[in-house]
Amino acid sequence: MMLKFAQFLMSLTILGWSAANAQDYPTRPITMIVPFSAGGPTDTVARLIAQSMGTTLKQQIVVENVPGAGGTIGATKVAKAKPDGYTLFLHHIGHATAPALYRKLAYNALEDFEPIGLVTDVPMTFVAKSNFAPKDFKELINHVKANKDKVTLANAGVGSASHLCGLLFMSTIEADLTTVPYKGTSPAMTDLLGGQVDMMCDQTTNTTSQIKANKIKVYCVTTPKRVPSLPDVPTCGEAGLPKFEVGVWHGLYAPKGTPKPVMDKLASALQAALKEATVKSRMAELGTEPVAQDKATPEALRAHLKAEVDKWSPIIKKAGVYAD
Ligand code: ASP
Repeated sequence: MMLKFAQFLMSLTILGWSAANAQDYPTRPITMIVPFSAGGPTDTVARLIAQSMGTTLKQQIVVENVPGAGGTIGATKVAKAKPDGYTLFLHHIGHATAPALYRKLAYNALEDFEPIGLVTDVPMTFVAKSNFAPKDFKELINHVKANKDKVTLANAGVGSASHLCGLLFMSTIEADLTTVPYKGTSPAMTDLLGGQVDMMCDQTTNTTSQIKANKIKVYCVTTPKRVPSLPDVPTCGEAGLPKFEVGVWHGLYAPKGTPKPVMDKLASALQAALKEATVKSRMAELGTEPVAQDKATPEALRAHLKAEVDKWSPIIKKAGVYAD
């Protein structure tokens, strides 16, 4: 009896302690894991919101790049991290497609993460090295079909957005190309600029400045309407592939079990970041915009992630694409 009472007192103390801890949160810097290389599009979105959320939370948010295996190495690290609010995870659509693409994953994408909120939907662009011969998208499609053994297509690994876009492209035009995987599209862009690889499908958050500086060729944007920051670039539909549409949504997560008061603080800091004028204008320059406030919530991201897992799993299984 005495023992039970002592245990009861102890659990009250522990509960009280963690509630107080959650109230004080954050008392030290927070790490935001990005599962792709520094300088790439996912990293760019992460750094934008990390800075603003850090100001709201009055603690620095440090971005850590944990690239490899299409984003699944970073995801594994987050799934195993302590759920105390000091590890966050910024990923994209690849979090929903990895469960079908990888036979062995050390985590469950739906159950091992606590969703904080959606962040932004980013269009993609078809780009190529500056001296790539085709003048427009129709010529590009013909060129690719006629030279499928020679043309190389960069991506950020199986399950990355660039990989999914490339898969969709190859299956639409019925040509298999040689794909070149990188740890992110930042190093892939370096090789595209250097002419070591021919083409890539990547987010506007990575391609816009190179397109505007005429350092790479752009063929089309993967949205139903043109992107305001690239008004002269046709949609892929206009340019020759009707209904060729790919959008890359980004979400922010914490490890499963992160306390509710901490999650609440993180969700409101994310919402504040997405309202901030500098975040909005930088996103607009990069061809995107923050999601509406009601999408930057745990409920919206949870529902979206589940819907995307359910949407992509049968498509990927039918295509028979797997990674170990
Ligand atoms: N854009 C990359 C992708 O294809 C990822 C990155 O480097 O951020 O998924």
